[in-house]
Amino acid sequence: MYSVDEWTRYGDELRRPLMVADGLQNAKNILIVGAGLSGLCVAYRLATKRPDVQIELLEKRDRCGGTVETWTKDGWLCDVAVNATRPHPSFWRLISDLGLEAKFKPSNSGASTRWIHAGGRRRKLSPWMVLKQGPFNVLRGIRSSRKGKKSVAKAMPITGVADAMTLGIVNDVSMNVDADFLMPSMTRFGEDPPIKWSKVKRKMEQTYPLFTPRKGTTASLEGGMQTLVDALVSALASLENVRFTLKADISTPEALAEERSQPLSSIVWCAPLGRTATDFTRLNVYAVGYTVADSRTIPVGYGTLIPEPDAPISGVLHESDVHASPRAPEGHRLFRLMSPAQRGASDEDVKGSLRTYLCEADPVMFEKIGERRIPSYPPGYMASLSALTSEFTRASWYQSGVSITHVVAEAERIADAV
Ligand SMILES: Cc1cc2nc3c(=O)[nH]c(=O)nc-3n(C[C@H](O)[C@H](O)[C@H](O)COP(=O)(O)OP(=O)(O)OC[C@H]3O[C@@H](n4cnc5c(N)ncnc54)[C@H](O)[C@@H]3O)c2cc1C
Repeated sequence: MYSVDEWTRYGDELRRPLMVADGLQNAKNILIVGAGLSGLCVAYRLATKRPDVQIELLEKRDRCGGTVETWTKDGWLCDVAVNATRPHPSFWRLISDLGLEAKFKPSNSGASTRWIHAGGRRRKLSPWMVLKQGPFNVLRGIRSSRKGKKSVAKAMPITGVADAMTLGIVNDVSMNVDADFLMPSMTRFGEDPPIKWSKVKRKMEQTYPLFTPRKGTTASLEGGMQTLVDALVSALASLENVRFTLKADISTPEALAEERSQPLSSIVWCAPLGRTATDFTRLNVYAVGYTVADSRTIPVGYGTLIPEPDAPISGVLHESDVHASPRAPEGHRLFRLMSPAQRGASDEDVKGSLRTYLCEADPVMFEKIGERRIPSYPPGYMASLSALTSEFTRASWYQSGVSITHVVAEAERIADAV
């Protein structure tokens, strides 16, 4: 049973399995595979807590950050993947420990409205939209989800809204996504807190360094999420007990343990493992810019989710409305579009959809800024993790949580365990 202090430190992240190998605490050399946000955070938390331990980060590519990357061009700035964090004290602690407080700002509270575009019209996402489906229907779904291993579609029988939500978070429709994984607090996956959840939340609120986030806001960094990656890399480079090895494609934990003559328990695996190409979905990401004058018919807000399978895009994010730091040249607005590869849309199809989903005017900038692979989490996924025992430590979004708050909190929890 976790204590009230642990719940205050990590909140609902404690519902997710933590896969720390027995023996990691005795390792004198720790090998971390994958230098995405997860590997970087695990390295930072372990290396600063245990200066007596040598840490090596092994990364397949020639750059750190993995999925996280910020695209910039001629005054435009757009994150290719994650662009902001939802509130969690673990993330705030990381920002504070890295000295990034001056660059970390809450999102614009006037840009919180979300819309759903379906059936040829855009509607504001609101509790009313959910209640209109029949409160008993919704309650029945929630109750049934507590039996475990259900899809989000079963747990949230709200036509369109469930698909819009899962497409926005994991690029897949709700019948393919595990409810325990996406919403462990709703399905009551794992352990319950020893006190009421409302009390845990109040206690958590008192522990935020820097500033306490307001309800409904997120927070982001000047310079995009690349700022966080750069700060982590530079903090790690300044530590004597940390070494980076880039362009190291490690096949399995067992092969690495044998090559380095280290026990398996000294390995922290922060990369995909045992996933085939079909265990991912793919996403194309576009940046689109307009002048403020041309885009005045687009209301200021957070963004629009588009659950319709025939639409070339699944979502629009109003990047320059949301962030406190600049994302577009003076007098312009930036939008980010997501196009799931399974919808088969070409760049021209995406460009052609701007009149439907944004405005009549031609954009002043339109560019495909990246492609991403997103791990799949099918119904029953989280329960299968709980049954997993491992001789090495597993972390990252390939394991038990999709968001960066998960990745950052998990790194702290791993360091707490050693
Ligand atoms: C479009 C998009 C939008 C997102 N938006 C949000 C958001 O708004 N909020 C949020 O919280 N999260 C969001 N996320 C999720 C967030 O980006 C991830 O949680 C996070 O980046 C995962 O980091 P990671 O280190 O776990 O994995 P990765 O970034 O995938 O890092 C894994 C690393 O391992 C390396 N690697 C792989 N195989 C090997 C090998 N065999 N040997 C050595 N190295 C290897 C890779 O090169 C990579 O550097 C979004 C993701 C995407 C794609």
